[in-house]
Formats: sequence, C-alpha cells, structure tokens
Amino acid sequence: MLDEVILFVSGLIFSLFLPRLPLAIIPRLRAMDGQLAPFPSPQPIDQHLVAQLLILRTIWNASFLFALIPLIIGFIILQSQPASLIFGLFIGGGWAILSRIIPSEDFKIPNTPYSNSLIHQVNELRIGEVTCCDNPDLAWEVTAVRCQECRNCHLSLPRPDLGRVRTDGWVGRFRLMLLDGHPIIAEGKVKK
Ligand SMILES: [Zn+2]
Repeated sequence: MLDEVILFVSGLIFSLFLPRLPLAIIPRLRAMDGQLAPFPSPQPIDQHLVAQLLILRTIWNASFLFALIPLIIGFIILQSQPASLIFGLFIGGGWAILSRIIPSEDFKIPNTPYSNSLIHQVNELRIGEVTCCDNPDLAWEVTAVRCQECRNCHLSLPRPDLGRVRTDGWVGRFRLMLLDGHPIIAEGKVKK
C-alpha cells in the first residue's frame, strides 16, 4: 500500500514540475544570454529587457506541451493498465494545466507571469519620455519600476523572473520551480 502511495506521489510531482523545467533551464543557457543586468540587481528598462520578456512569454506558453505529454500518455496507459505511478502522472498533468489556466488573483487568462499587457506597459516606459528628474534612469526592482536617480515609482508591478542566471543556488532554483516565473510578491500587495 505504501509503495503504491509513493509511486502515485512520484508521478504527481514529476508531471507537476515537468512543465516548469523549460522556464527554469532554457533562458539561463549561455547561448540565451539576453545581455541583461546580472541577477539580482535592478534591470534597466531597455530593448534587451523587452526582447527577453517576449522570449520568456514564448517559452512559458510552449511549456503547456510538457503538461499535455503526461496527461495523454497517462490516459492511454490507464485504459489498459491501472497503475499508481501512471495515475499520478495523469492527475499531475491535469493539475499543471489547470493551475496555468485558472487566474490566481486578477482575471487574466492564461495565468501567465508574462502577459501582453505587462510587456506593453514596460515597452511604453522604454519608448516614452520620462520627466521625473534631470537624469532619469528607470530600472525594474523586485517590487516596481523606479527611477534610480530620484526613486520615483513609474510602474507599480512586481518583477517576474527574467530568466537571468541566478546566484542564489538551490534555494533560488526551488523557489523558481514553485513560483513558475511569477514574482515572489503578489500584484496589488505592493505599497506605492
Ligand atoms: Zn527620476
């Protein structure tokens, strides 16, 4: 009985985290270096950032496929052979898809950390004229886009994972897998 439970949970965890692997790995490959500021310093609002956000959005969307694989394979095998591991794979795949479709707080579907509106707002900041001080220097900090000169807040949105090579080791990687690219601070809870 215990064996069965362990097999089920293994299958569940595997297919829950499988769709999160591409985002955790691909943007951090040397060949994918988007010329961003090193982690975890504030990221300047420039064309490299906008390009990186577009790449991250593509990877995040494409990794839906990685949730479908265990779902479909699990379904096919379960037709002929009910096994705990396969059942775990099947449930985990379905769960992974639901967690990415159903919005967590606000109503944006799918529940992506790299929405079109977010990328649009960042790009507007990049091309727009900034007049907060004599020497405007916008950068995305953990909780908001602020001018590095006068600390004026230009966009009160927490920063999602930018796919930069992390220096916080296994803790950072584990956190990234749990958050699936979403910022560690939920939207709307940031004090302006
Ligand atoms: Zn300023």
